[in-house]
Amino acid sequence: MSRIAYVNGRYVGHGEARVHIEDRGYQFSDGVYEVILVQNGKLIDEDAHHQRLQKSLKSLGINAPMKRGPLTQVINQLIKRNKFSNGIVYIQITRGVAPREHSFPINLKPSLVMTARRLPPKSQSAIEAGVKVITLEDIRWKRCDIKTVSLLPNILGKQKAREQGAYEAWMVDENRLITEGTSTNAWIVSSDGALVTSELGSHILSGVTRKTFIQIAAELNIPYEERQFSVEEAENSREAFFTSSTSFLTPVTEINGKVIGNGKAGSLSLSLLNSYFNYIN
Ligand code: PLP
Repeated sequence: MSRIAYVNGRYVGHGEARVHIEDRGYQFSDGVYEVILVQNGKLIDEDAHHQRLQKSLKSLGINAPMKRGPLTQVINQLIKRNKFSNGIVYIQITRGVAPREHSFPINLKPSLVMTARRLPPKSQSAIEAGVKVITLEDIRWKRCDIKTVSLLPNILGKQKAREQGAYEAWMVDENRLITEGTSTNAWIVSSDGALVTSELGSHILSGVTRKTFIQIAAELNIPYEERQFSVEEAENSREAFFTSSTSFLTPVTEINGKVIGNGKAGSLSLSLLNSYFNYIN
């Protein structure tokens, strides 16, 4: 089936979609993005994604290309044209097109690009098997709370993980504390049974899925702590997992070669994931 993309007001074949070579997103990664989960044709946590998008745009002083109503219409139209009901929508807004110079004209017309793709259903056996994580130095800038398309340290980190047979890399700050994954938020179940994930701040992205899992934990009366944890604490945790709009909750069964729990997805992780499936369906 042919995929359709949206580029600055037009729906075009995915393979033919183009932006200008002096788009500042292309030349300077001067732009922001969102990835929204689509489940049964519904946008999951749409409000939170919209709020974060506005925050990212504001932080970088990029003009919003359109108001929320029309933006949602385009998103829904794109899903319809791509004929799927379970997948993701990628929204990218860059500062726009201008002659290449670091400083920028204030009232530039932003570029808006969207793509959409179907997500294969998650298999129960793959979930239960879990994935491996490595840790590496967090070499990112000091505004990781902005969801910018400037993702070099993230892609290099993920690549390193893959080359070492792991699925994700958790990044570690100068105090040997884990910030987050290269495209996910990091969680553990501590030795005393509490759920732990980093507090919000400029060192991590405020994950929409992270927020939903905190709500789920609160509803299930599961104690949780918002604080960073060390590599050593993670390696010795009872359970570990990461969350994001595309990976939902993915159990971690090995960190830096150390087996977590009994080497299979933990029971708390699975029960949280089960509640998340109920939430999105
Ligand atoms: N942290 C980083 C660095 C990310 O890139 C992402 C998602 O892309 C997340 C966390 C998870 O965010 P969300 O749950 O909103 O998908």
